[in-house]
Amino acid sequence: MSNQTLALTPALYAYLAHQSLREPELLRTLREETARHPRHSMQIAPEEGQFLAFLVRLTGARRCLEIGVFTGYSSLAVALALPADGRLTALDVSEEYTAVARRYWRAAGVEDRIDLHLGQARDLLVDLVQSQAGTYDWVFIDADKISYRHYYEAALVLVRPGGLIAIDNVLWGGAVADPADVTEDTRAIRDLNAFLLGDERIDLSLVPIGDGVTLARRRGTPSG
Ligand code: CA
Repeated sequence: MSNQTLALTPALYAYLAHQSLREPELLRTLREETARHPRHSMQIAPEEGQFLAFLVRLTGARRCLEIGVFTGYSSLAVALALPADGRLTALDVSEEYTAVARRYWRAAGVEDRIDLHLGQARDLLVDLVQSQAGTYDWVFIDADKISYRHYYEAALVLVRPGGLIAIDNVLWGGAVADPADVTEDTRAIRDLNAFLLGDERIDLSLVPIGDGVTLARRRGTPSG
């Protein structure tokens, strides 16, 4: 790719982290606790958490939705960035994982900003789509990859015009660019990425931070 300027070597990544991370103490503790978890790779990178929090503040988001909580790193980062009257609706299937999340939300004093719903995200989203369409400023999708397209369509209904949808793992460790990888998860992410490129309902940017985050802004405000 002729316009590529950077390959993030381990040394450069270490520099980036050292020179830009302002990770709050509780987020660092949570990250270290989750690193001992067998499914720890489901946790977002700290620079990504900082980026999401930055976006929440930049956009002035007050009503946020997270699809896929795991042990709560991203939800804690987002909740800490919300104003005192901001709210985060959080969906997850696991009581066990979100018990860790809840412990940290409490410790950080943001528990009352977060409304956790346990169950299959597809089912929970049916209710939200019926009752809360167009009311969210911000949606973060980071759950099972097979359902990504489904979650995206629900998110697009739930977010207001001008609102932001962020989608995690869109580069999937590089697998999306490997034609030999035809596993179900990889194909689901690849198909969504291809679909988003042609989706006129959104403005689009794929940011190569963490495992790749797509930002989709719902069009429809007076400015387009
Ligand atoms: Ca993820």
